[in-house]
Amino acid sequence: MIDRCGRKIDYLRISVTDRCNLRCIYCMPEGGVKLVDRSMILQEPELVRVVRVMAELGICKIKLTGGEPLVRPGMPSLIRLLKEIPGIRKVTLTTNGVLLKEQMKDLAYAGLDGLNISLDSLEEVCYQKIAGRDNLHETLEGIREALKYPSVSLKINCVPLGLEEQDLCEIAALAQKYPLHVRFIEMMPIGYGKEFRGMQEAEIIKLLEKCFGKLIPYEGEKIGNGPCHYYSVNGFMGKIGFISAISHKFCRECNRIRLTSQGYLKTCLQYTAGRDLREVIRSGGTDEDLKKVIREALAEKPEGHAFLEKAPEDETEKLCMSQIGG
Ligand code: SAM
Ligand code: SF4
Repeated sequence: MIDRCGRKIDYLRISVTDRCNLRCIYCMPEGGVKLVDRSMILQEPELVRVVRVMAELGICKIKLTGGEPLVRPGMPSLIRLLKEIPGIRKVTLTTNGVLLKEQMKDLAYAGLDGLNISLDSLEEVCYQKIAGRDNLHETLEGIREALKYPSVSLKINCVPLGLEEQDLCEIAALAQKYPLHVRFIEMMPIGYGKEFRGMQEAEIIKLLEKCFGKLIPYEGEKIGNGPCHYYSVNGFMGKIGFISAISHKFCRECNRIRLTSQGYLKTCLQYTAGRDLREVIRSGGTDEDLKKVIREALAEKPEGHAFLEKAPEDETEKLCMSQIGG
């Protein structure tokens, strides 16, 4: 699918739930967000149908996210079904890792291609301060388990908040010790993220170079589906990556659309622009109806975010990341 700006859209991020077992301070308030009734959430056959139709339109890469996708039962079954759809080349999943240890084997056997594990600190008190729960041990166990399955590529995602105790060098060192990539994500002013300044790429690179020496821009074979750019570091098994939506705006190369857990097709993180696919499905719409609505949404995909400018209030997304599917 080509959008109105000439961008090739081949990547769909699906939020499978708005529920989560953590309360990351930049993502979900302690009391949680108002959860939608389960009947409003797309069921497995509905998800499979949407992906089949999207694959016919050119989507070939799927990321399952949330909320926390592993709190929704049946992820291995969903992955297996998605992988069987003609045209779908890669299915990956992003998780906080808390429930990963017990599910990893089934996810790998279902054909999962890649796993992003979010980890903002390796220090117990700091992890709890950011994640709102005392689950560092479980997340680390999840990472250890995931490392046993080399067919599933592994990335660690960290959102630097500018807290000294977050110790970004310690997190980066995971790519030194293990065959995985560590990526630093700039805080985006979405939902509760608006309340944090975060750290920008240049500042993080300076800090990492003090610990590890020069970060060398990586220009080899493309890693992953998204806008992350990578650096090599001497002696590291994996790379260090940056997803810098603020300091290195990448909207011109945007290749993605998002489906919320309620079946709303979102064409840009920052804006409400999109279409309700659940409505089409549950009112008996045909595959052709779905395709028409998807094409309409694409025709209106915003050119880019306006995180640093003032975007029109009525068009700006009010939901938080856990509800949109980060
Ligand atoms: N629960 C899963 C997890 O934590 O990986 C999947 C959903 S979570 C919303 C996906 C990613 O979005 C996480 O890596 C999280 O750190 C990131 N995220 C959440 N809010 C963000 C924000 N305001 N800016 C940048 N990244 C954010
Ligand atoms: Fe949950 Fe992921 Fe949001 Fe943290 S970032 S509260 S783990 S959805």
